[in-house]
Amino acid sequence: MTINQGGWRPEMGAASNDDAGATYTGNKALMLEEALLFEIGDTQTTGVDFDDVAGGVSRLGGLERNKEIGLAGLTEPQAVRHYTRLSRQNYAIDLGLFPLGSCTMKHNPRLNEKVARLPGFADIHPLQPVDTVQGALGVIAELGEWLIRLTGMHSVAMSPKAGAHGELCGLLAIRSALEARGDAREVILVPESAHGTNPATAAFAGYRVENIPANAAGRVDLDALKARLGPDVAGVMITNPNTCGLFEPDMKAISEAVHAAGGLVYCDGANFNAIVGRVRPGDLGIDAMHINLHKTFSTPHGGGGPGAGPVVFSEALTPFAPLPFVELQGKQYVLVEEETAGEHHASSFGRMAAFSGQMGMFTRALTYILSHGADGLRQVAEDAVLNANYVLRRLDGVLDAPFGASGPCMHEALFSDKGFAGGLSTLDLAKALIDEGFHPMTMYFPLVVHGAMLIEPTETESKATLDQFIGALRSVAERAKAGDESLKAAPVHAPRRRLDETAAARKPVLAWRAPGQAEAAE
Ligand SMILES: *Cc1c(COP(=O)(O)O)cnc(C)c1O
Repeated sequence: MTINQGGWRPEMGAASNDDAGATYTGNKALMLEEALLFEIGDTQTTGVDFDDVAGGVSRLGGLERNKEIGLAGLTEPQAVRHYTRLSRQNYAIDLGLFPLGSCTMKHNPRLNEKVARLPGFADIHPLQPVDTVQGALGVIAELGEWLIRLTGMHSVAMSPKAGAHGELCGLLAIRSALEARGDAREVILVPESAHGTNPATAAFAGYRVENIPANAAGRVDLDALKARLGPDVAGVMITNPNTCGLFEPDMKAISEAVHAAGGLVYCDGANFNAIVGRVRPGDLGIDAMHINLHKTFSTPHGGGGPGAGPVVFSEALTPFAPLPFVELQGKQYVLVEEETAGEHHASSFGRMAAFSGQMGMFTRALTYILSHGADGLRQVAEDAVLNANYVLRRLDGVLDAPFGASGPCMHEALFSDKGFAGGLSTLDLAKALIDEGFHPMTMYFPLVVHGAMLIEPTETESKATLDQFIGALRSVAERAKAGDESLKAAPVHAPRRRLDETAAARKPVLAWRAPGQAEAAE
């Protein structure tokens, strides 16, 4: 049996899953199985009832299709049910806690959605004359001002479309600044605990990446960093708070040392939720930092998008920031699309995207910011940190917290698999959490901790939800420590059990073939 042929059938359920609960339909209670569109419909029937077009004259100049298109013909109810069933197979923040560390899966307020759907924001086109989209440009400008104010930085580029895109934007600005002073440098230093996007971005921007070790307290080893600085180092990429959920108290000293050695400082601001309203990165000597609107400012994410990763810049990098940018000239918002003399964008490195950025995310983020206000945003950070510390301390003695002894964490609680009985792993615990009705936490990241489990509850979870989650975690952790081998079979209640994730990643089956069609076509 191969995955690309045929849907899920009860005999598969029983055979491949050794599942005593297999049913005739493959459905499990009201969790419905769903086959592919091509398996539900066929190419011979059609859900609509049009007369054949007779005597039409093609104006496509010989480019018209000359074969059957091969799409399954479905009725409207079939199509609606297909997608509704698939949507029910998603776990979502609207269903329950999403404890993924480093992802800030907070509630997406409905007010954001209402504003984003206003026709004046939702139905406009990026090529419309600017005098017809003054309100939208005003949103971009006002959001940008908030981001500058909250970070204490000098300017902002709104167009990057996600955190990783923002990183690239920041590094391209750093590269331009260095080249402008005739000082091409080759190396970017990245801490061992960094998110994978940091070294990937640096390599993509043409730099050689070197690691900076962490010290015993889970922070950047300042002495090791200083020892490595020199005329070949273009800059550093530091995440603060870092991916161990810890604040980097030496950030100012790091910035000073990097600047003294002629380099620039990039900060990965994905964890801004922990410090928004409390710490201004601009005060820490940072030159460029991206902000994940889809994390800190509650715009929906997961499933790959959309995101938005505006980048704030120091004065030194401002002239190199990308185009376009929005500027208020008199009473009119103007979209500046070319380099301008003066302080802003005089030596822009170019564009990150065709247009101005993710408008739908901008309206949601600004709505979120305005509905909280400055004091509300500060409380966001405080409550996010409080919730994470509640999880950390309630699991004292249950799960090993590698940096738990060094004091409170920021917005994420980090645990390891130390103390699990032989043969049982973080993966087994995560799979057992699925049976308990929880999406697992981030696993095996950061890499500096063995069997890492990174939990970020965010400020939007109630104490009652956290207590239930902690209870579930406590239960599965105790099973892991006691050597309960049944954990290896988890999840037992999910429609799919343990999938071959490596094969799925390495040999993805991306095209459907009708049963019997040769595999050799691959
Ligand atoms: C999420 C995240 C990123 C990448 O952001 P995307 O929007 O997913 O590209 C980078 N660094 C850290 C620490 C993150 O948590």
